[in-house]
Amino acid sequence: MASSKTRFAPSPTGLMHIGNARTALFSALFGGTFLLRIEDTDAERSRREFVDELLYDLRWLGLDWDEGPTNSEPCEDWFQSRRGRVYQHYYDELQRLALAYPCYCSATELEISRKLQLAAGKPPRYSGKCAHLTDEEIRRRQEEGRVPTLRFRVPKGQLVSFEDGVRGTQKFLSDDIGDFIIRRADGSAAFFFCNVIDDALMGVTDVVRGEDHLANTPRQLLVLQALGLPLPRYAHTALILGDDGAPLSKRNGSRSINQLREAGYFPGALLNMMARLGHYYESDELMDLAGLRARFSTHHLGKSPSRFDPAHLDHWQSLAIRSVPDAELDAWLRAETRVIVPEHQRVEFRDVVRSNCLFPEQADTWARILFTDERLSIEDAAAEVARQAGEAFFLAAIDAANAKGEDFNGFLAALKAVTGAKGKGLFMPLRAAFTGRHDGPELGLLYRLIDPHRLHRRLAEFTYISE
Ligand code: GLU
Ligand code: ZN
Repeated sequence: MASSKTRFAPSPTGLMHIGNARTALFSALFGGTFLLRIEDTDAERSRREFVDELLYDLRWLGLDWDEGPTNSEPCEDWFQSRRGRVYQHYYDELQRLALAYPCYCSATELEISRKLQLAAGKPPRYSGKCAHLTDEEIRRRQEEGRVPTLRFRVPKGQLVSFEDGVRGTQKFLSDDIGDFIIRRADGSAAFFFCNVIDDALMGVTDVVRGEDHLANTPRQLLVLQALGLPLPRYAHTALILGDDGAPLSKRNGSRSINQLREAGYFPGALLNMMARLGHYYESDELMDLAGLRARFSTHHLGKSPSRFDPAHLDHWQSLAIRSVPDAELDAWLRAETRVIVPEHQRVEFRDVVRSNCLFPEQADTWARILFTDERLSIEDAAAEVARQAGEAFFLAAIDAANAKGEDFNGFLAALKAVTGAKGKGLFMPLRAAFTGRHDGPELGLLYRLIDPHRLHRRLAEFTYISE
């Protein structure tokens, strides 16, 4: 098979979120060359900050592109807003072939025609009013100062069919497609046109994109056929739904990649979660990009919508935090957390974080519990456990700690011997006194990490709480 090329072609009109990041991911996982193109033809809504953010998000996720812009400075190679000259060539070509024509219909005229068709129970299509204007008619309109759009003349009576990589054979009748706009009145290129012209010119062989574009594909194939340009293969991925069953949006839990990064999610957690949104992987293990790529196949893309579940993301986060390199984990911690952790306890603190935390703020809470004298906030459940254990238990614990020092097992045995407490009755009150909480790191680890004087003080405080 000749080498393949995929692309991600975002419109920089907003922040990247799980939906378009997944499209980027699938395109990157496909294999072969991965290209990035900026579809900024909507001058009003496109913003350079969004391009910056997009490049940053992609790099942060590790989805580096082989071809495409290196920064947000618009250039003719990768920014559609700068490719007017390229498109003009093909507009001219289509007009020369009489496959495109100027349309002078006003927005009001088009709207009336649309309503009439709908009222007659027909799907609305361009009526073809300007399809056969004479040179004279065109000249008159031009003289009146009317500015036309350019429409593609859809051939009559054709079957447009293609093999979709996900959805199988797709068939459309050209007669169901009205002549569509390829250049807007302001001279800017319309999506149907520039999107597919660029795919052809940039050598894209495989387009992986959302199902919402499926109905656009026959139009786009017709444009390429008219110009004799190469046709890419298409794979349209099913929608992502929120946990309420509606398409994923801000309202039902979609967050931007930026927000997820700020919350502390690791790229690896996001990648593994997104790779399984609509793509089946046999393995439930956390994989790096190379692993995800090696096992990716369009045959494993599902036809039915998939659901985004925030709990799945947290599951991958818990796996990711266990496997990130130490340096990355340290950098992920808040600066104020890093200064709290004593140098010689850094290694063990990482273990605490890896097995008890998902987010930097939780790591910060544990650092404060373990290494500072800030007042413990005592959970109700912990206070209740302490009351049940009673004052004598904590007094005995102080004695045992004094007698056994660093020897945690000796400490436990001594306390057990004096109080007769065992199992939960032994561990829970100790955990409560050490941390104010009813769960967290293993007790022995807490005993080692917390300074003996601090531990002593907390046990002493609990003699009061338990009164
Ligand atoms: N700019 C289009 C979008 O963001 C690209 C669609 C496509 O991938 O072809 O929806
Ligand atoms: Zn018209």
